Amino acid sequence: MVRDEPEIEYQTTRARTASLIAAAGIATYFAFVAATRNVFLFDLGQVAPMFSALVVLNLILAATAGIWAPWRRFVYVYQALQVIVCTAILQRLGGLMMGPLLITYAFPVILAEMFDTSVFAIANVAAVSYAALAWMQSKDLSEVGINADQQRGFVLLAFVAFNFLALYTNRYGYQLRNLAHHLQEKVAERTAALTEMNRELGSKARALEEKQDELRDFVYTVTHDLKSPLSAILLTADLLLQRDGQALGAESRDDLERIVRLAGGTEDMIRDLLELFKITSLPEAPAWIELGTVVDRALETLHPLIAAKRARVEVARLPRVWGEPRKLGHVVTNLLSNALKYVPAGQGRVEVAGAVENGTVLFSVRDNGIGISPAYQRGIFDLFGRVPGPEQVVDGEPVGGTGVGLAIVKRIVEGHRGTVSVESEPGAGSRFTVRLPAGRGGVR
Ligand code: ADP
Repeated sequence: MVRDEPEIEYQTTRARTASLIAAAGIATYFAFVAATRNVFLFDLGQVAPMFSALVVLNLILAATAGIWAPWRRFVYVYQALQVIVCTAILQRLGGLMMGPLLITYAFPVILAEMFDTSVFAIANVAAVSYAALAWMQSKDLSEVGINADQQRGFVLLAFVAFNFLALYTNRYGYQLRNLAHHLQEKVAERTAALTEMNRELGSKARALEEKQDELRDFVYTVTHDLKSPLSAILLTADLLLQRDGQALGAESRDDLERIVRLAGGTEDMIRDLLELFKITSLPEAPAWIELGTVVDRALETLHPLIAAKRARVEVARLPRVWGEPRKLGHVVTNLLSNALKYVPAGQGRVEVAGAVENGTVLFSVRDNGIGISPAYQRGIFDLFGRVPGPEQVVDGEPVGGTGVGLAIVKRIVEGHRGTVSVESEPGAGSRFTVRLPAGRGGVR
C-alpha cells in the first residue's frame, strides 16, 4: 500500500509516544516489583535483566521510530514480543498465583491502540500467553489446590477480560480518531473559506486602490487646472485695484478688494492642496531618522518667523525613528510653524520633546499660544479644517491659513502607522503629540 507523507509522520509520532509510554510503564512495573519484593517474595535478580532489556529496547525504538513505524508487520512482531516477555516476567514473579498481576496485560492492549494496530490481536496474544503460562504451571497450581477446572476458569476469565478491554479501548480510540478527523475537516473547511474571503478582499482592495488613484489624479488635474485662471483673475483684479482704485466708488472698491482677498485665499488653498498631493504621493525609501537633526533643520527654515516673533524655542533630547525622511521632515516643520504662528510676539515659548515608551516613539510640540477650544480640536485635522476667524486672533491680528497643514500631517503620520493628537486650552496653549511605532514596523 502506498502511504502518503503526513500519514507516515502521524504513525511515527504515535509509535514514538507509544514506545516512550511503554518504557515508562515497564519501569513503573519494575519499581512496583522492587518495592513489594519483601511482601510478595519476588526474586528481583530473576526479572531485573528482563525489565531492563525491555526498557532499553523501548527507548531505542522510540529513538528510531521514524525507521520502523511505517512497517506494520514489524510493529506487530514487536508488540507480540513485548507480550511474551511480559508473560516470562510474570512467570518468574509467580505466574497465575500472582493473580492481580494479570493487570500487566492491559498495557500492551492500550499501547496497541496507540500504535494503531489491532487491539484484539494483541489482547488475544496476551490471552494465549496467559493460557500457555497456565498450562506450564498446571502441576504447581494443582499442588496448591487449584484444580484443572479452576485453571480453565482463570484462562477463560483472562480471554473475556482482555477482549472486553480491547473492545473498550478500540471504541474509545475510534471516537477520538473520529473527533480528530471531524476537527481536521472543520479546520480545512474554515481555512478554505478564509482563503477565498482573503482573495476576494484582496481583489476588492486592489479595485478600491485603482479607484482611489483615479480619483486622486482627477482632483489633482482639476486643482492644477484651476490654478492658472485663478492667478489670472487675482492678477487682473489686483491690477484694476492699483490702476483704477482711486477712480472707483467706495462700494466698488470694497467689492474689488473682497475679490482680491477671496481669490488670494483660494490660491493659497490650491497651492497647499497641490503641496498635499506632492508630499503624500512622494515615493521615498524609509530610513532611520534622527528627530533632533530634523528639528534643527526645520528651525533653520523657520528662523525668520522665530526672529519676527522673538520666540524662545527649547528642544530636548529626541529619539530616532524609522520612516520616510522628507515626509516626517514636513510633519515637524508644520507643527513647529503652527506653534510659532499662534504665539504672541515677544512672549512666545515653544518646547519640543520626545521619548520612547512601550514600543512607541513620542514627539511633541508645545506652545503657549492662543490654544484651541475643545469644539474644534477634532476638526482641525480634517482637510480645510480651521478654527473660525474671529477666534484666531494673535496680537490683535487675524491669523491666515488654509487648514491643509494638519491634514497633511495626519496623512503622513497614519501612513507610518502612527497617530497625531492635540491637547489644548484656549488662552493657555497647545501641545501636539505624534506617536510612531519604534522600530522598523512603521511605514505602510
Ligand atoms: P492653517 O494653519 O493653514 O490654518 P493647519 O491645518 O495647519 O492649517 O491648522 C488647522 C487649524 O488648527 C488652524 O487654522 C488653527 O485654527 C489650528 N491650529 C493648528 N495649530 C495650532 C496651534 N499651535 N495653536 C492654536 N491653533 C492651532
